[in-house]
Amino acid sequence: MDALTGGDATGAPPAAFVPDCLFCRIVAGEIPADVVRDSGRTLAFRDISPQAPTHVLVVTKDHHANTAALTAANPELASVLLAEAVAVAVMEGVAESGYRLVLNTGSQGGQTVDHVHVHVLGGRHMTWPPG
Ligand code: AMP
Ligand code: ZN
Repeated sequence: MDALTGGDATGAPPAAFVPDCLFCRIVAGEIPADVVRDSGRTLAFRDISPQAPTHVLVVTKDHHANTAALTAANPELASVLLAEAVAVAVMEGVAESGYRLVLNTGSQGGQTVDHVHVHVLGGRHMTWPPG
């Protein structure tokens, strides 16, 4: 797979649905999730291993491997994803107190699921630097 575009070595565009991708399968309804918001192009659901009182993941419905792949393929959708993360923070009641948006990207970035997602973390004081 091409690290920048998410497509393959032939230059083909990335697939909208990747059968062995966990988040594609959640979007497709094959694996259950606690969905909190559906914008049509993005889906927000609670992280299965919450690291804060509010811990929601916002994913694009189409498969993009990571932040770089998404911004290269569809920067407009990247802005939608970011706006949806903010909307989740408002819905979860953490907009006033503050929250953290995290996009782990690549191995050293701590990314474990290769389908772009924004972590929306709130409800407690965040520390810096991150681990
Ligand atoms: P990352 O490590 O940034 O790729 O984030 C992946 C996140 O997906 C982790 O915080 C996991 O806890 C979360 N996760 C893994 N499996 C599921 C699942 N079935 N439903 C919801 N969240 C999940
Ligand atoms: Zn996927």
